Amino acid sequence: MGVRGLKTPARAEPKEPAQGDLVTLSRIAMACRWEIMLPAEDQDALPAAQAALELVADLERQMSVFREESEISHINRSAAYAPIEVDAGLFSLLELAARLARETGGAFDVSAGELARLWRSCRAEGRAPSADEVERARSAAAMSHVHLDRGSCAVAFARAGLALDLGAIGKGYAVDRVSESLRNAAVTSALVHAGHSSIAAIGSPPWDEAWSVSIADPKGRDDPAARVRLRDRSMATSGSTEQSREIDGRRYGHVIDPRTGWPAEGVLSATAIAPTAAEADALSTAFYVMGVEATRAYCAAHPEVTALMVVPDEAEGEAHVLNVGIENDVLEVTV
Ligand code: ADP
Ligand code: MG
Repeated sequence: MGVRGLKTPARAEPKEPAQGDLVTLSRIAMACRWEIMLPAEDQDALPAAQAALELVADLERQMSVFREESEISHINRSAAYAPIEVDAGLFSLLELAARLARETGGAFDVSAGELARLWRSCRAEGRAPSADEVERARSAAAMSHVHLDRGSCAVAFARAGLALDLGAIGKGYAVDRVSESLRNAAVTSALVHAGHSSIAAIGSPPWDEAWSVSIADPKGRDDPAARVRLRDRSMATSGSTEQSREIDGRRYGHVIDPRTGWPAEGVLSATAIAPTAAEADALSTAFYVMGVEATRAYCAAHPEVTALMVVPDEAEGEAHVLNVGIENDVLEVTV
């Protein structure tokens, strides 16, 4: 799930004082590297940070479509036949996913699991799917057929063939759970990230008013495309470079437009800044699918969300950065 081809889509980059003034805890989960960075002077917070990081393994066991025993796999196998009671946290996440599917006109859709699976296997086999295969998987997806009963925390599918895939929101949700655990342990300054693509800033480092993070140049150049300053905010970036694959001379990414069934094209990377990492993760994927104009409309209607889009320039090989609502004092565009 990391976006290695984007190098590090975003990176904690405290400018002052030196790196040694931060302690970093890390682990591998959800196919990427997780880190919590704390001011070195907060040694007392280390056990709490270690415990917070441990949560990620359980969340992966709960949400992964790659594990048969996960709660999500159980839902996918059974929810068309009987309502399935799920964990309250997972239920809230599905409610959030349903709201974001509505608000993005289906550009973000966790019920597009069949499409994600089809394209994953085709990329692995190095072939493009047939139009028939795409249409079958596309028409299986429908968030309106996923019934969520708040009273019993139950999920039911109104028809068979549906599959949920939390690939575009799960890491963000897990970042939120880690942050919540840190806050509950009275941590007031930390940066949490998953694979550099889902980030949450708690407070600010003691030497600055915000955490400074950078958004990589999607063309892979060393200098970042932009720097953003975050304080009690979350950010996520979607881009297709790492998991994209060239088939018959055409490059296919791992973000799918659920409305057409085909991989999204058009922007090089989409970054969303939002109150929670789950929203930022889902919305970065949605904005990647929606493109610039629809992203502008979304952010205008949701002032708590801002975006940064890197789009190809007319001049071949160039890219430029479009700021959608980020205040000037928190953004530094560097390309
Ligand atoms: P990354 O995991 O690389 O950070 P994303 O957050 O954009 O990237 O998530 C991409 C994953 O989400 C895909 O691998 C797939 O499982 C799933 N997915 C792809 N397109 C969509 C979409 N339009 N809506 C919801 N989930 C999607
Ligand atoms: Mg995402």
